[in-house]
Amino acid sequence: MDEAAYRAFLPELVAIRHRLHQMPEAGYEERQTSAFVADLLSGWGLSVTRDLAATGLVATLDRGGDGRAIGLRADMDGLPVVEETGAVYASRAPGMMHACGHDGHTTMLIGAAFRLLHDDDFRGKVHFIFQPAEETAGGAARMIADGLFDRFPCDAVFALHNYPGLAAGRFSARQGAMMAAIDAATLTVRGVGGHGARPEDTVDPVVAAASIVMALQTAVSRNVPPQEAGVITVGAFHAGSACNVIPDEAVLEISLRATDPSVRERLCRRFEEIARSQAASFGADIRIDWQVGYPVTMNDRVSVELAADVIRATFGDDAFEPLDRPMMGSEDFAFMLEKVSGAYLFLGNGESAGLHNSRYDFNDKLLERGPVFFHALARRFFDLT
Ligand SMILES: [Zn+2]
Ligand SMILES: [Zn+2]
Repeated sequence: MDEAAYRAFLPELVAIRHRLHQMPEAGYEERQTSAFVADLLSGWGLSVTRDLAATGLVATLDRGGDGRAIGLRADMDGLPVVEETGAVYASRAPGMMHACGHDGHTTMLIGAAFRLLHDDDFRGKVHFIFQPAEETAGGAARMIADGLFDRFPCDAVFALHNYPGLAAGRFSARQGAMMAAIDAATLTVRGVGGHGARPEDTVDPVVAAASIVMALQTAVSRNVPPQEAGVITVGAFHAGSACNVIPDEAVLEISLRATDPSVRERLCRRFEEIARSQAASFGADIRIDWQVGYPVTMNDRVSVELAADVIRATFGDDAFEPLDRPMMGSEDFAFMLEKVSGAYLFLGNGESAGLHNSRYDFNDKLLERGPVFFHALARRFFDLT
């Protein structure tokens, strides 16, 4: 790899990131982003396939090698946040923002493609996976359903996510559970409404729902082993419109998280049992609408060791910081890690506003290091030194 050529390309990489930052798009609507990436990479001579998960794409670099393939993944979607960074390259899409740094992830993967393309000694097959809809809609699962790993078999998959608060350019990961599973549900408690002065003629869904909220607090404390982690959060409670009217129904929005698959299953089951039995004790009915859930992001031991070795060898011993416990956030790369062993790593964004904050911005300094990591990782994966 001609490092001078890469340094000369870096300003262009920054410009690409700023351009993507200006055009954040919602999950499965990343049409401009997807077209931009596809045009750029096919223009560079990569083989680009675009019919996965609406706006997803895979760009392949095939330089022979030992018959194996490595998958490198970036996410592309923005968030419905009004940007307040004041950056000259701030979002031009009203009400949308790249508040999770997926513009940076996409750009780092473009940079990785540049480096591998310009590495004449490289031998191996690399699938650059650009996925839509990471935030809430499980774009990774839909790419898999559309045949991602049948059509582009991978022997290992890796992804980077920037991490505010971790020193800029420092990597962090752990073996096993890295991020929690999440499940979300809308719980509708149906009673019988009526006059606020005559509760005896009603089935009050507010009281039933309030009782469910309190009873759910025992699910973690009494049903999850103390050594394990779990969270049930009732994030929204909507009911009624006036002080003297008992409404017909109350609606709760609930999220459940766990870092172990069996705890996940148990929490979801206990949530249903508690909601149903509490509601029944008041004579109310319930309906539970589950939304898409993400599994536990489970890192493979060998892949984490490989990545950590590459990071230490490339950037120095301080550049990798083992993560001592899983994060309770969630990540749909977990779906890919259920199919193919691999690792999800954090890359420090430095002291910035947090992810999903209106003042957050991806740190452009990472645009140099991220691609260097992916390139070195691919070389090490194919035993090229
Ligand atoms: Zn996010
Ligand atoms: Zn993200």
